[in-house]
Amino acid sequence: MCGIFGIFNHSEASNHTYLGLYALQHRGQESAGIASSDGKRLHHYRQMGLVSEVFTRETLKRLSGESAIGHVRYSTSGSSELKNAQPFVVDYAKGSIAIAHNGNLTNASLIRAELESNGSIFQSNMDTEVIAHLIARSKAKTFVERTIQALGQVEGAYSLLILTEREMVAARDPFGFRPLVLGQLREAPVIGSETCAFDLIGAKFVREIQPGEVLLINEDGIRSFNPFSPKPRHQCIFEFIYFARPDSFIFNRNVYQVRKSLGTQLARESPADVEMVIPIPDSGIPATLGYAQESKIPFEMGMIRNHYVGRTFIEPEQSIRHFGVKIKLNPVKGLMKGRRIVAVDDSIVRATTSRKINRMFRHAGAKEVHVRISSPPITHPCFFGIDTPKRSELIASSHTVKEIQKFINANSLSYLSLEGLKKCVQGEAENFCYACFTGDYPISFPIERLNE
Ligand code: AMP
Repeated sequence: MCGIFGIFNHSEASNHTYLGLYALQHRGQESAGIASSDGKRLHHYRQMGLVSEVFTRETLKRLSGESAIGHVRYSTSGSSELKNAQPFVVDYAKGSIAIAHNGNLTNASLIRAELESNGSIFQSNMDTEVIAHLIARSKAKTFVERTIQALGQVEGAYSLLILTEREMVAARDPFGFRPLVLGQLREAPVIGSETCAFDLIGAKFVREIQPGEVLLINEDGIRSFNPFSPKPRHQCIFEFIYFARPDSFIFNRNVYQVRKSLGTQLARESPADVEMVIPIPDSGIPATLGYAQESKIPFEMGMIRNHYVGRTFIEPEQSIRHFGVKIKLNPVKGLMKGRRIVAVDDSIVRATTSRKINRMFRHAGAKEVHVRISSPPITHPCFFGIDTPKRSELIASSHTVKEIQKFINANSLSYLSLEGLKKCVQGEAENFCYACFTGDYPISFPIERLNE
């Protein structure tokens, strides 16, 4: 779970990268970083924290030059500490490179062990560093060839931006797990995880970068390479369910419309005899609108979210019950007193959130609390870039829907069916990865990882 952004040949490269990252903040809140090039050398700055906390006018000024890449991180591999923040910057025999990576490589530890046994020294525990080593070791003549050679050795999910003193390379893995889009800001090419980054800076969306495509951007313009044998697409369906921003256009679709149709489908499959439909904000809102419109039950914002909650807050010494969720969400009292309600959320992971929310609804007087989830039960962890806990912590890996209903204390609980989910990406259902719901992983990896 990370966001990446890059811009080439623009007089305000780092300022625009900062804005691009601002729009992609939902993809990672642990650390942020930018690397820029002035044509002769790279400059970079990265810190733990939100984009708005990490950068100041002064820091951005020091990130001089006409090309830049940036990254917001939510750790899925490697711990959450500064040495694992990106862009990852290294010097090697032929110059400097900065890499910003979204995704997880499935054979990184294997390659790393091999490189280490041959004397390589690693500075971080990110799988991204493996790519830097492979580029540095390549004997190919040009930078893009060295990158292609390196990418030919890694497996798994990557949407990547790499910056050198004079060039930028963008690449998306052959399965296309994570999104990556190309845009244009006047003459300058821009690249980002999602189109919402383009909207903020006034760039126009050009196209998706294709799975397996490598783009070389330099003073001669943009050149596209397709060096890898074509693979079936395995785009991450969870980007549509939860992760991407609703205003973005990725995988050839608008996220909001897909998310809303998940709710419509859910209402058809699992209606509820209730008086109001309440979304769990924010990620549950579009699906709830679909559910309410399809079922013709009034939509009410019965749960309000505080948008200013940071990642850490000081808890009172005498612990308040359910404090964790309460600081973020609070029901509208009076609205649901004596009423039958259905609460719609996008997913249940550990089920602790849903349990606490339902308790709040009941304290607020709801007579019946029905829960509808706009995705199938998550039974398997993701190894391709979504932060899911290990299998034993995923409640649906060991509990039936009835047992989960009991655990979260709901009057009824239904999930969207897998078939229903596929209907919402009609015409392209086979182009998505559903491994978190099925355990059918499209790429093999060491089986021990499943129980890590
Ligand atoms: P849980 O208490 O673990 O069941 O959390 C479920 C909530 O977390 C839902 O409201 C989702 O919107 C949200 N969610 C789903 N996937 C993730 C994720 N990978 N990281 C953080 N939150 C998530």
